[in-house]
Amino acid sequence: MLDYVALEADLDQEERLIRDTAREFVDEEVRPDIGEHFLDGTFPRELVTEMGELGFYAPNLDGYGLPNVSERAYGLLMQELEAGDSGVRSMASVQGALVMYPIHAFGTPDQKERWLPALGRGEAVGCFGLTEPEHGSNPSSMATTAERDGDGYRLSGSKTWITNAPIADVAVVWARDRSAEGSPVRGFLVETDRDGVTTQAIHEKLSLRASITGEIGLSNAWVPEEDVLDVEGMKGPLSCLTQARYGIAWGAVGAARNCFETAREYATEREQFGRPIGSFQLQQEKLAEMATRITTAQLLAHRLADLKARGDLRPQQVSMAKRNNVRMAREESRRAREMLGGNGITADYPPMRHLANMETVYTYEGTHDIHSLILGEDLTGLSAFE
Ligand code: FAD
Repeated sequence: MLDYVALEADLDQEERLIRDTAREFVDEEVRPDIGEHFLDGTFPRELVTEMGELGFYAPNLDGYGLPNVSERAYGLLMQELEAGDSGVRSMASVQGALVMYPIHAFGTPDQKERWLPALGRGEAVGCFGLTEPEHGSNPSSMATTAERDGDGYRLSGSKTWITNAPIADVAVVWARDRSAEGSPVRGFLVETDRDGVTTQAIHEKLSLRASITGEIGLSNAWVPEEDVLDVEGMKGPLSCLTQARYGIAWGAVGAARNCFETAREYATEREQFGRPIGSFQLQQEKLAEMATRITTAQLLAHRLADLKARGDLRPQQVSMAKRNNVRMAREESRRAREMLGGNGITADYPPMRHLANMETVYTYEGTHDIHSLILGEDLTGLSAFE
């Protein structure tokens, strides 16, 4: 497995254990069938509880049965899951970073007690509703509203592109509280079986096919006050996105590594002109480029882990890593696909599947463009958004 600058040597025992557990899980439970799931547009539902049993949801949090592993261990977990498929890593990212994290950070003791153990074990599924049909890259302009009604709120609006929405028990829904001055954004824990809540699957995807995506409709859906998160403003959803983007920066490296390993193996076995194609300089240059770009992305991810562990990680640094590492994986999965010739366009080999998945990963959690603008503002002090 590609580890060109011996990063493995610096892993502690716990980090190795988590990495190895996830790698074995992917080899045994994901790899054999994921191509079929991708073709069928289905998610292997049994993985939801299996990943819960293995402690793959938010293991970097503490309390409520969560083990509080290192940020590097969490990153390695995301890397191994995405080496399987971005859909599997997305399941773990949404559940852990976008649902359990906000409950852990902004939830009341009752909310934590109620949801964290069940979500952590994979007995309940969560989703994160921020994007709307008319508000994607600019979620602060969201149109979903919450209005005070008795000892709760009525929510109205619609969310779209929501990973896991059709199978979720609870949705973290972000809405503008029109009853409060300035209509601040607030987070609501919305059980999906409440009156006025509907979810509908989106089936036409050509990317991230082994993942369930859907819409959430909210039609005067009543939510009691005790299900409101204790946070106001865009810092609520944005802090969740920083957690998830951190995992993506790691995960994309795993997808690229799987493409590289596939291409390397193929190049040493496939013969043309009486020799392995890997003996030709053109193919060697491709492998050299892939290995170099994957290694530099790995280094960036490891550095983020150090900064995050000591509490110094800035969201802009996460933007740089998400932007760089996903672009790298998008380009290198294409290069690997090319090295496999005609076989490369099939679901029998992973590169084309990763390549298709990377179109989603490049777009969600802040598009590549949006991360460019976040970096642009950080580097110049001038916002391109306003
Ligand atoms: P738009 O915002 O309309 O952007 C269209 C294009 O315009 C992009 O290329 C963008 O970069 C560019 N653009 C926009 N603004 C600017 C600007 N100011 N300057 C330059 N270029 C600009 N959302 C959730 O809330 N929860 C989820 O679980 C979730 N899961 C998803 C799963 C999948 C499979 C997909 C595809 C998306 C998911 N999303 C989710 C939504 C995702 O985050 C959005 O698609 C993303 O934020 C982009 O929004 P948009 O699609 O509306 O594109």
